[in-house]
Amino acid sequence: MKKERIYANALGRLYRYAKTHNLRPAAIRKIVLEQTCYLHQPFVAEQLIEACKQERISTATIYNSLRIFVKAGILRESKRHLGQPVTEYELISDNVKHMQLICKTCGRVTDFSDRAIGRLIEERKYPNFNMQHYSLIVYGECKICRSKKIE
Ligand SMILES: [Zn+2]
Repeated sequence: MKKERIYANALGRLYRYAKTHNLRPAAIRKIVLEQTCYLHQPFVAEQLIEACKQERISTATIYNSLRIFVKAGILRESKRHLGQPVTEYELISDNVKHMQLICKTCGRVTDFSDRAIGRLIEERKYPNFNMQHYSLIVYGECKICRSKKIE
């Protein structure tokens, strides 16, 4: 998907969220959102802070915006434990059918696809709810961590 479309899509979600939560869609938040869409995905907060440097946006505003983007369904937040805990952010795309295996011990993330599960979810109808996309995360322990325990 083109970056411009991704941004337009994300902005639409931000406006919808702002409307239902009595939040003013501040101009500064739009700039942060635009920078977010242009970052290589997934990213960490420090990368966004660096990207926003020229715009003179405070770190507090960026963290606050990230929180809002997650709540608005624009970003997905995931915690990884690679030596130390790291919080990663990733844009949620309308077209991506998201399935991941996450190791609770080391934080390793593996994407997978399962047509049978996908079909089940896509065919499901929810009353008073229009599904746009979904994310399926299966937690467990990876082969490497399991073999370390056995040794
Ligand atoms: Zn592991």
